[in-house]
Amino acid sequence: MTMRPLFQVLFLTAMAFLILHFTNQLSISRASSQRRETRLHNGVSNQSTTSKLEDRLLSGLLSPEFDEQSCLSRYQSMLYHKISPHTPSPYLVSKLRSYEALHKRCGPNTPLFNKSVEQLRTNHSTDQLECNYVIWTPLGGLGNRMLTLASTFLYALLTNRVLLVDHATDFVDLFCEPFPGSSWVLPSNFPVGNLDSYDASSEKSYGYLLKYKLISEDPEARSDILPGFVFVNLESSYIWDVYDLYFFCDESQITLGKINWLLVKSDVYFLPGLFMLSTFDEELSLMFPSKETVFHHLGRYLFQPSNSVWKLALQYYHSYVAKANQVVGIQIRDFPWSLMSKENRFNQIMKCGLKENILQPIRDSSRKTRHLTEDQTGSKAILVISLYKDYYDRMKSFYASSTRLNRPVNVYQPTHEEAQQLKNLSHNEKALAEIYLLSFSDVMITSAWSTFGYVSYSIAGIKPWILLSSKVSKEVDPPCRQVRTLDPCFHVPPTINCKTKRRSKTNWVGPHIRQCEDVNEGVKLVD
Ligand code: GDP
Repeated sequence: MTMRPLFQVLFLTAMAFLILHFTNQLSISRASSQRRETRLHNGVSNQSTTSKLEDRLLSGLLSPEFDEQSCLSRYQSMLYHKISPHTPSPYLVSKLRSYEALHKRCGPNTPLFNKSVEQLRTNHSTDQLECNYVIWTPLGGLGNRMLTLASTFLYALLTNRVLLVDHATDFVDLFCEPFPGSSWVLPSNFPVGNLDSYDASSEKSYGYLLKYKLISEDPEARSDILPGFVFVNLESSYIWDVYDLYFFCDESQITLGKINWLLVKSDVYFLPGLFMLSTFDEELSLMFPSKETVFHHLGRYLFQPSNSVWKLALQYYHSYVAKANQVVGIQIRDFPWSLMSKENRFNQIMKCGLKENILQPIRDSSRKTRHLTEDQTGSKAILVISLYKDYYDRMKSFYASSTRLNRPVNVYQPTHEEAQQLKNLSHNEKALAEIYLLSFSDVMITSAWSTFGYVSYSIAGIKPWILLSSKVSKEVDPPCRQVRTLDPCFHVPPTINCKTKRRSKTNWVGPHIRQCEDVNEGVKLVD
């Protein structure tokens, strides 16, 4: 090839790239402002047609049975989220309606609930009960809790159990009740106390019972020789005891299926593990023809922020962010094991944002004399979500001269708590409000390993760029990677071969399972 045609090819490629980039930026901004104008300005009350009602109920995902004022977020989230291209399958919708009916029949303080509690006092199970239960007890931060609660809920759907939540004091009032006409809160007079103190060494733990041969996995075993209550240990350290891994084998599911009351404690998104059990194969493929949207749907169904949390989120959104044509959410989570300084981390964020055309560089604009208004150009809001003020300060000073850019950039940070706090309701309310604020973004950058980020992008239905982390290096290259699928990462998949009952990683080979983008040993669901 001579120089002239080569130059032409290069020139045309560069032009095509620029046009593509420009159109992309324009369409993001146009889509975003259209969404804000049509959805926010129309408001909820003007929506009267059936299709709009369906839209508000997320194509049937949400039950129409609730009182709107008791949980505003249930009806208003769709005004702030991007329109999801993912609709729930009709089978999932019908499964949720049947679950709600079951929960109403068996929920706390119903005659059937009282009957199951009476059975529990006998210390053994029976196959004579209409209502069986799985109790979830909280562990870890808010993101971990939302992921494990959704995993436990899917387990309840698959095993025909009723999900009850052991409410720690810092969890109360964060979310609306998800099931109409009933409650998911375990009554305080439940006969088994201190549920959060159960661990792998507890005598009621399934792994412990197997290890000491106190329980048989004989498929023919009758339920009345099995205990009435069993604890399933799925804390991330569960991988150290092979008996705890049995949970992910079909034989164990047959035995567990005969036990009336299960207690689950976990800090990991164990939901993808349920897809490895052939016991649930058929139901799961009917419920979720698209695997990557499991948490997207279940999260939108289960987690409606309470009115007080919703008010916090909306107040901030309308005061600062709503005006912008494009909102870029950047979630920065620093884990104690990270070797990176804040400066390196900030450089990583900028490198990622500039490389992926999410952030714009500050050019020398000293020759510009005219200040363009937002209406003329479209503005960008950068929402910094982090425990620390440091990143906000750096970003703010980086864009300090941005009023001279074609597209003004404003930087916001709702809170900076400086440290994670446990058992503090107001801290958790702010965290949840921020998970939702972040989910209203048009584009997202989130942090590796962070369940806080996973929950937000998966509920939003946005594939973010994840800031990669290293446990051995002070710098990371490439700085970030876009996730391929929406579903969160299961950080510690069970390393067991269910045939040999020995450790093996081969269990994780499957058409819908892939390595996570941000955690080498983690796996996630893909289509
Ligand atoms: P993960 O540790 O990143 O996986 O996320 P978790 O949500 O499970 O735990 C982190 C906890 O730290 C959160 O629940 C909050 O309590 C707090 N936290 C972390 N990052 C933020 C943040 O950006 N904003 C607020 N308000 N809290 C945060």
